[in-house]
Amino acid sequence: MKNNAFIESQKQFDWAAKQLNLDKKLRTSLRYPQNFIQKRLIIRGDDGRIKTFTAFRSQYNNALGPFKGGLRFHPEETADTVRALSAWMTWKCSLTGLPLGGGKGGVVCNPKKLSEKELEKISKAYAKKFAKHFGPWKDIPAPDVYTNSQTMAWMLEAYEQSMGISAPGTFTGKPIELGGHEGRTEATGLGVVIAAREAMKHFGMNPKKSTVIIQGFGNVGQYTAKHFEKLGLKIIGYSDSSGAIFNKNGIKFEDALEFKIKNKSLRKFPKSEAMSNEKLLEQNCDILVPAALENVITEKNADKIKAKIIAEGANGPTTVKADEILYNNSIFVIPDLLCNAGGVVGSYFEWVQNNSGENWTLKKYNTELDKVLTNAFQTVVKTYETERDIKMRQAAYLVAVKRVADAMKLRGRV
Ligand code: NAD
Repeated sequence: MKNNAFIESQKQFDWAAKQLNLDKKLRTSLRYPQNFIQKRLIIRGDDGRIKTFTAFRSQYNNALGPFKGGLRFHPEETADTVRALSAWMTWKCSLTGLPLGGGKGGVVCNPKKLSEKELEKISKAYAKKFAKHFGPWKDIPAPDVYTNSQTMAWMLEAYEQSMGISAPGTFTGKPIELGGHEGRTEATGLGVVIAAREAMKHFGMNPKKSTVIIQGFGNVGQYTAKHFEKLGLKIIGYSDSSGAIFNKNGIKFEDALEFKIKNKSLRKFPKSEAMSNEKLLEQNCDILVPAALENVITEKNADKIKAKIIAEGANGPTTVKADEILYNNSIFVIPDLLCNAGGVVGSYFEWVQNNSGENWTLKKYNTELDKVLTNAFQTVVKTYETERDIKMRQAAYLVAVKRVADAMKLRGRV
């Protein structure tokens, strides 16, 4: 049976709450979303028939600031996955020191079976139905799985029409023309490389003599590859859903990208060894970046991983049991909470600019991103070293949960 993501998220929280000695009332309030809203969306489909969809928004915690988190359009979306993702957003925003809380939303639908017009209707129906719960100082959605900047543009339009105001800071990940930022597309991948760079410094590794393997060649995988190469590392393996390619002498990012664009997949990339996605993870390298799906490093393959550092670009790529094995094998894991936080930090910058009317240059955007993530990395490492015998993931939870718990206490919510 598939793990229940919400129960998993509560287990991670429970561990930190116990270590931090949080009292029972505080623990109870931080184990569940503050608000969970469920509605039905009704639209007329292209065939003239009425279609209904279940929609959620989980507002997990706003002690540090307005709720913040993406919206997924997915056929397997459930109330509990949305709850779990909203908890993780709360800890991610807290860990990076953002003045934001955590939220997440979703619509149970299959975008692959819907036309552009139907997707527009669903997006607008969602924003209208949830309008009173959203706002730049209330709850700020963003794109996530199967939603994008166009979805945000439709939602912004429906929201502003409903509320009779102009408030672009209500949504992030918007098109540049509507207040989005050119830095956002690369922010998550750049953030993965910043976190890995700090880890390499921590271990005295020379980037110019280090190798990388990247699983997944979408938004996160591609920009991670681009920025690793800029730093001087050699990328020796890539993969996408069609399989993996490997060459110990290195495969240039631009060559892989050009091939992928032309052929729609990395399969049959010349001068490389083809292998399965599973086998790729087991190759010798310094840094391994899972940047595709969850649960790819499990108790079955964790023992076979030879990388020195795992930089979690994806959300939840490592199972709890695998984490234990990696820890025992002295493999340093940069947890997703920290490693892929570049996306939400970039979203925060967009929100700041929308609310202040400023327009940052790309240079300023990336410099600030670097500062926030480097600082978050150093804070987690400090806790990791002080506490001893804990994993980096646990150190990240201690930092993140403590900040939210402190804010709850200061507000007298418990
Ligand atoms: P994406 O859809 O752009 O890319 C996903 C990639 O994974 C594609 O190349 C796809 O071919 C590949 N893939 C799918 N199945 C695979 C398989 N079985 N083996 C190997 N590769 C496979 O998605 P993305 O935005 O790059 O997100 C990837 C991960 O990063 C997800 O876990 C997502 O939640 C997480 N993440 C993304 C962002 C962001 O800003 N995009 C931010 C934080 C976390």
